[in-house]
Amino acid sequence: MNKLSSQELMDIEHQYSAHNYHPLEVVIAKAEGIWVEDPEGKRYIDMLSAYSAVNQGHRHPAIIKALKDQADILTLTSRAFFNDRWPIFAKKLSELTGKEMILPMNTGAEAVETAIKTMRKWGYLVKKVDADKAEIIVFSDNFHGRTTTIVSFSTDPLAKDNYGPFTPGFKIVPYNDLKAVEKAVNNNTVGIMVEPIQGEAGVVVPDDGYLKGLSAIAGKNNILLAVDEIQTGFCRTGKLFAYQHEDIDPDIIIMGKALGGGVFPVSAVAANQDVLGVFKPGSHGSTFGGNPLGCAVAMASIDVLLDEKLAERATEMGSYFMSQLKDLQKKTTKIKLVRGKGLLIGVVLHESAGKARQYTTALKAKGLLCKETHDWIIRFAPPLVITKADIDAAMEKIREVLG
Ligand SMILES: *Cc1c(COP(=O)(O)O)cnc(C)c1O
Repeated sequence: MNKLSSQELMDIEHQYSAHNYHPLEVVIAKAEGIWVEDPEGKRYIDMLSAYSAVNQGHRHPAIIKALKDQADILTLTSRAFFNDRWPIFAKKLSELTGKEMILPMNTGAEAVETAIKTMRKWGYLVKKVDADKAEIIVFSDNFHGRTTTIVSFSTDPLAKDNYGPFTPGFKIVPYNDLKAVEKAVNNNTVGIMVEPIQGEAGVVVPDDGYLKGLSAIAGKNNILLAVDEIQTGFCRTGKLFAYQHEDIDPDIIIMGKALGGGVFPVSAVAANQDVLGVFKPGSHGSTFGGNPLGCAVAMASIDVLLDEKLAERATEMGSYFMSQLKDLQKKTTKIKLVRGKGLLIGVVLHESAGKARQYTTALKAKGLLCKETHDWIIRFAPPLVITKADIDAAMEKIREVLG
């Protein structure tokens, strides 16, 4: 077989692919568990996990089996008809989230759009906000996806430049500032949409009690609280959902990424009947949403998280990893701060250390893949199946580069 080299593949991509990404110079041709391999056979520890979409590890055998078995039976019906997988998956996800109803989509951004539509429709039909006046409170440095409406309330110029005109109806307030939220609330406020930890912003963890405070503001003012758990959910931070670190019951849970087990895009919104009940036939939908193949994969993906107790694992391995990184911080002038929860960890560099990209590039050369977010932050988010020995091996490389 005439196998192309990494360099040849990167050259072809550079020519034929739109340049909307700036990847590290590594080509992945194979993967298993926490390991990925390039065409030349060099192996790397994956510490990005496709932005937390591969929490269960690459090609988990139980998830691949579910994919193959379902592919042999039925893949797509559209929801013009019932199929024999979606009802079972909907019930399973309802029981898992403790919410009465589920609306299935494919990508995270579609689930966020669904939550926005839900909050607005609920605002008009239930809260009785005047037509076209609904407001949703969102936060600076948020990341909720890439659609035109979602980038309308991004505060990252790169994400929104030259995409206007933008969708109105969003009020942006500083993250981790409850007073700012209280001030932003008015009679037209229908929802608050928040990331329990801001992953893309650089693993920004709010103060303890912040989510509780948001929940109280929402409750007091008849506002829906929507948590975007697309990156933080499915055991990444040491709980099934990150909001469970605080004793709250959000109205809307937005899920994606690891729900598809790193195999297939599956996203969903969960809420009770009094909220998701606002949708009527024809008012929203998706051709692939609720497709049998995705449902089978998602059910297996959930089973792996529960059977292998990956939440507990993320807590245990995360605190071990974070303590090692904090030890390193004491011994180097490069690291300003180590923060995170479970296995969602951000290492903030001193500006004097130079940009993060040079370190992610150096780590890649040593066989560890991770990605910078913004100029000064490195995110470490390995698959949750990682072991202590794997972390020790990774720390050796990290010490060589950041020590
Ligand atoms: C990745 C992500 C999204 C968007 O998901 P896509 O599948 O890329 O559309 C939305 N919100 C958060 C918090 C994310 O991390």
